[in-house]
Amino acid sequence: MSIKRCDKCEEELIKCYVDQGFKGILVKNHEGDKMFGNKKNTRVNPYICGNCGYTVWYADEPTKIR
Ligand SMILES: [Zn+2]
Repeated sequence: MSIKRCDKCEEELIKCYVDQGFKGILVKNHEGDKMFGNKKNTRVNPYICGNCGYTVWYADEPTKIR
C-alpha cells in the first residue's frame, strides 16, 4: 500500500486501529441488506498525522462494498 500523507501538513500518516472492533470497525453498504448476510462490507481503520492530529479513515477492502 502506498504511503498516505496528511492533507494539512504533508506528514506521513500512521495507520492505527480502534480499541473497539477487531482489526477495524466493520461498515456495511445498505444495498447489501437485501441479501442473506450482508457481504457488502469492509473494515475501516484510521490513519493519523503524528504532527497535527488530522485523521482520515480508509477502507481495507473498498471494492467489497460496491
Ligand atoms: Zn498533519
